[in-house]
Amino acid sequence: MQNKMKIVVCIKQVPDTAEVKLDPKTGTLIRDGVPSIINHDDKAGLEAALQLREKVGGTVTVVCMGPPQADVALREALAMGADDAYLLSAREFGGSDTYATATIIATGLRKIGFDLVITGRQAIDGDTAQVGPQIAEQLKIPQVSYAEQLDVDGDSVVVKRQYEDQSHMLKVKMPCLVTALSELTEPRYMHAGGIVDAYNKEITVWGFDDLKDDLNPEWIGLKGSPTNVFQSFGKKPKTAGTVLDGLSTEEAVEKIMAVLIERHII
Ligand SMILES: Cc1cc2nc3c(=O)[nH]c(=O)nc-3n(C[C@H](O)[C@H](O)[C@H](O)COP(=O)(O)OP(=O)(O)OC[C@H]3O[C@@H](n4cnc5c(N)ncnc54)[C@H](O)[C@@H]3O)c2cc1C
Repeated sequence: MQNKMKIVVCIKQVPDTAEVKLDPKTGTLIRDGVPSIINHDDKAGLEAALQLREKVGGTVTVVCMGPPQADVALREALAMGADDAYLLSAREFGGSDTYATATIIATGLRKIGFDLVITGRQAIDGDTAQVGPQIAEQLKIPQVSYAEQLDVDGDSVVVKRQYEDQSHMLKVKMPCLVTALSELTEPRYMHAGGIVDAYNKEITVWGFDDLKDDLNPEWIGLKGSPTNVFQSFGKKPKTAGTVLDGLSTEEAVEKIMAVLIERHII
């Protein structure tokens, strides 16, 4: 571990909606007119990082891979209190699936250096929850996903990891990666001074040439993406359902129970 703890938080800029709309003709995402925000889990991860820095010292760096417009998300993170920010942005990165995205981000992280990497558990648009674990695999560091509590104990992190009906307490030596749930902590608001500082700070922008010593063009973009989107389509609207008319409450309950049992729902 470095002298001063170095926390790097990966933030993704996402459309401000959980209901991603698709162009029915092309099957691609419609982003026009939809404001962008920092992904919720990532913002909670950033807040947790800031709290750890307040407790044990060190620095908090934010990293985003995305188009030049993602600058706004990084400025918001700086205004919340991050020390510095990196934007990984290049034409060569376009068309990357989760694996290629993780390759690019992991390459950036190796160059930046880190003790603790925090990602969100899941992005609200892509929704795969693959990028965090894939980054850890590529960096060959241990990972703990679904963090609902995070603390530091010497050269280790202590994570409360959420399961469906229970939690595990895990202690992991740094360097390691943690994926944050939005329940981890309530993000702070930017303050006026922070916003002014954020716009006075420089964001480091790295393109392909800045990472090429460690990044083969065959590993990124469409070429480096093992996933192909075969078809995209929206959910079909639900049908009107069955209305049980003219029954007493007891009869209706009996009827509903019978249907649920028949369909193996209960
Ligand atoms: C064949 C293919 C082509 C694609 N082409 C494009 C394209 O041209 N342009 C495009 O925008 N998307 C493209 N995508 C989507 C892109 O791969 C995903 O948006 C991206 O890999 C993140 O996946 P996710 O949203 O499921 O993130 P998740 O795995 O759900 O995210 C988990 C966490 O990882 C971190 N993270 C994820 N993405 C980023 C990021 N970009 N920067 C920093 N941290 C991040 C965040 O902390 C996030 O909370 C393509 C996907 C496929 C399959």
